[in-house]
Amino acid sequence: MNYKYVVVGAGLAGLTIAERIANVLNEKVLIIEKRNHIGGNVYDSYNDEGILIHNYGPHIFHTNDKEVYDYLSRFTSWYEFWHRVLTYVDGNLIPMPITVETINQLYNINLSCDELEDFLKKQAVPIDDIKTSKDVALSKVGLDIYEKIFENYTKKQWGIDPAELDTSVISRIPIRFNRDTRYFADRYQGMPKHGYAKMCEKMISNKNIKLLLNTDYKEVIDQIQYETLIYTGPTDYFYDYKHGKMLYRSIRFEYETFSKEEYQSVPVVNYPNDYDYTRITEFKKLTGQEHFKTTIVKEYPNSDGEPYYPFPTKDNKDLFALYQEDMKKEKNVIFLGRLAEYRYYNMDAVVRRALDVFEGGLNG
Ligand code: FAD
Ligand code: UDP
Repeated sequence: MNYKYVVVGAGLAGLTIAERIANVLNEKVLIIEKRNHIGGNVYDSYNDEGILIHNYGPHIFHTNDKEVYDYLSRFTSWYEFWHRVLTYVDGNLIPMPITVETINQLYNINLSCDELEDFLKKQAVPIDDIKTSKDVALSKVGLDIYEKIFENYTKKQWGIDPAELDTSVISRIPIRFNRDTRYFADRYQGMPKHGYAKMCEKMISNKNIKLLLNTDYKEVIDQIQYETLIYTGPTDYFYDYKHGKMLYRSIRFEYETFSKEEYQSVPVVNYPNDYDYTRITEFKKLTGQEHFKTTIVKEYPNSDGEPYYPFPTKDNKDLFALYQEDMKKEKNVIFLGRLAEYRYYNMDAVVRRALDVFEGGLNG
C-alpha cells in the first residue's frame, strides 16, 4: 500500500489533521485506529435504552478560540448549554468551581463578592515558591477549603497526594470572585447537536481518507509506504518502552439506567470525600435529550486500564524528556495529541494543536 500520509489514531487530533490533508492538500491519507470506532475518547453512542451516552466519560466542549469553534462548526451544529457542577461536602451540594455562592453555602455565611477576596486572603497559606497542586490550592483558599474540596478528590482521581502533582492539575479549577456558577466561563460551549461520533464522521467524509479500524498500527505499518506518519498514540509504545513505561491514569466507567426522568439536578455532581467514585454524570442533562428513562455514569479512577490522563509528576516529566530526545530526531514522524505529547489537552486545545501543526507544514 502506498499513502503519502498515514495517521495513527482516530481521536480528535488524528481526525483534524486527516481532514486538513484530505480537504486542503487534496492528498490521500490512511487512518489506522486500533479501536472499533472513530473519535477516540470523545466517542458517544446510544445505549440499549436509546439514551446518548459518552463511552469514555463526560465530554463538554468549551473554548475561547473562535477559530477552533468555527472549524468544528463546519461539521456540526451545537446544542448550547452552560455546564454546571455541584460538589457534595458536609452533607450539602454546593457549586463548583469556588464562587461566592460556594463559600456562603459551605460556611453558612453571607459574604458579598467584594468580601470574598478578604475572606480567602485570611484563609490562604502564604507560599513563596508554588511548585505543586497542593501549593496552588493552599495559597489560594487555605487548609480547610483545600481539605474539604480538593485534597480527597485529587487523591481519588490521581491515586497520589496533591503535593506530588505539578501545579497544572488543580490550576485547572478557577476561583471566582463573583456569582457565576457555570463550570466553564468560556465564550463558546456546548454539545455537538447530534453527538460527537456524528461530528467525527463528517470530519472524515472525504474519499481521500481511508480508515482501517480494529488495527494496531504495528500490525500493518511495515507493509505501507508513506512519506509522513502522524502518530497520536502513546509515545512509549512507539519506542517499544525503551526508556520505560510512561504512567497514565485510567478510569473505570460504571453506567446505570433508571426508570425515571431525572437522577440529579445538574449534569455532574462531584464526591470529593464520600464513595470510591469521583463524580456522577447524568447524560440527558448534557445533551438535552428527552427520554422517560435516564442514564448516569460513575467514574472510578485506576492505573491499569486504557491510558486517559497523562500523569503530571516530576518523575514522569523527566522520563518523557528522554523520549522527547528521540522524537526530535525523527525525520518523517509527527507526534500529536494527548497521548503522544503526554499533555493534558482539552478538546479545543488538541484541535488547535492539530491545526497549527498542519499550518506549520507536515514534513516531520
Ligand atoms: P485520543 O482521543 O486518546 O485518541 C487517540 C487514538 O489513538 C485513540 O482512538 C486510540 O485508540 C488510538 N491509538 C492508540 N494507540 C494506537 C495504536 N497502537 N494503533 C492504532 N491506534 C491507536 N476535553 C474537553 O475539552 N472537555 C471535557 O469535558 C473533557 N472531558 C474528558 C473526560 C475524560 C474522562 C477524559 C479522559 C478526557 C476528557 N477530555 C475533555 C479530553 C479529551 O478527551 C481530549 O482532549 C481528546 O480526546 C484528545 O484527543 P487525542 O486525539 O489527542 O487522543
Ligand atoms: N478537582 C478537585 N475537586 C473537584 C474538582 C476537581 O480537587 O471537585 C481537581 C482534581 O485534581 C482534578 C482537577 O482538579 O483532577 C481538574 O478537574 P477537572 O474537572 O478539570 O477534571 P477533568 O474533567 O479533566 O477530569
